[in-house]
Amino acid sequence: MGEFSSLDVDALHGLREELRKEYARFQERGLKLDLTRGKPSAEQLDFSNELLALPGQEYKAADGTDCRNYGGLHGLPELREIFSPLLQVPVEQLIASDNSSLSLMHDLVMHAMLFALPGGTARWVDVERPAFLCPVPGYDRHFSICQKFGIEMIPIEPTADGLLDIDEVERLAASDTRIKGLWFVPKYSNPTGVTVSEQQAERLARMTTAAADFRIFWDDAYSVHHLTDHRVTVAPILGLCEQAGHADRVFVFGSTSKITFAGAGVSFLGTSPANLQWYLGHIAKRTIGPDKVNQLRHVRFLKDAEGVQKLMERHRDNLAPKFAKVQEILAEELGGTGIGTWTEAYGGYFVSLDVLDGTAAEVIRLAKEAGIALTPAGATYPYGKEPRDRNIRLAPSFPPVADLDTAMRGVVLCVKLAAVEKLIQR
Ligand code: PLP
Repeated sequence: MGEFSSLDVDALHGLREELRKEYARFQERGLKLDLTRGKPSAEQLDFSNELLALPGQEYKAADGTDCRNYGGLHGLPELREIFSPLLQVPVEQLIASDNSSLSLMHDLVMHAMLFALPGGTARWVDVERPAFLCPVPGYDRHFSICQKFGIEMIPIEPTADGLLDIDEVERLAASDTRIKGLWFVPKYSNPTGVTVSEQQAERLARMTTAAADFRIFWDDAYSVHHLTDHRVTVAPILGLCEQAGHADRVFVFGSTSKITFAGAGVSFLGTSPANLQWYLGHIAKRTIGPDKVNQLRHVRFLKDAEGVQKLMERHRDNLAPKFAKVQEILAEELGGTGIGTWTEAYGGYFVSLDVLDGTAAEVIRLAKEAGIALTPAGATYPYGKEPRDRNIRLAPSFPPVADLDTAMRGVVLCVKLAAVEKLIQR
């Protein structure tokens, strides 16, 4: 189709007429499609249906613990052993919890607000304007936690090649004691799919932070969620922090939400002995132990780390064609137009689409009026505000391929229409 910006006024008006007609036809179809949340599809959930019948009458853990009863704050050792190599955290520093790693992140922030962390001298609530570094585009629910607790969010834009701007992170972390944390998805990130390099991980572990109680929230939500044969690995951050003399710097999170059941999985926290003691001391007041029956059925079903990888291959076979479809349509419809760039990841759950500056909200509005739900404009930025109004997070996992095809054709149509309207106004 060629570069939109090189079209003259007449050509733009002609194109707008064509696109408006196409859009009206699309609207008439009365569709109801959803590309908002990165949920596993029903087919993917079916891969783990065996869990529904487990653990049956075999409710005792390896050490004889009756999983039906109270206790076991650390979670079942045999489950922690399965996930220890996958999350690169020694078993004794890894705890297994209930169904959501997001709730662990929320609770850690909440506890740090109310009780000084190891190495810290003050509760975050007593700090004037505590702040977190937030690489963007990022995960909206991380940002919601900060917003809820009144923690200022400082966006970190990526470098020109789409990677973490580690220089900027180092500069800011060293500059101000009120900067207490960094949200970070190290692998196949939400939404850009980018993975941290070994060198960057080392720098995060080594960097000087003004706050002694600075924490990296290392959210390894997509550690085994490969989409290709190129299985990307990340450096073991906990070990790197220890070696750098900053053993307490990192909280590592993981979960089986996108491995088994998104609503009934198991979550994990890996961190230093001092942090663990601090955290367990607090949660011991809110629970007498996690859901060990669920943990046990996960052990029986997954068996070992290899079992997890095998299950992930089934997910990959299911997801890869959907991601390929999104890439195909974006390339076919937006390639060479200069009005869209997008990511192609080796894993994870998302595609991050940047449209013409100042048109993302309009694309999302047009799509909504044509029956396609997209993640709200600005959602990938702190406070829901993206200065350039160009980023859209696409989540292809949930709809069947045929619906995805239709939805994506609608999305690219809206991208073009919004771009033409914008270019005509200029
Ligand atoms: N972290 C990231 C980066 C995510 O993308 C998601 C879900 O989309 C979560 C955490 C949620 O994890 P959980 O289901 O374990 O709460």
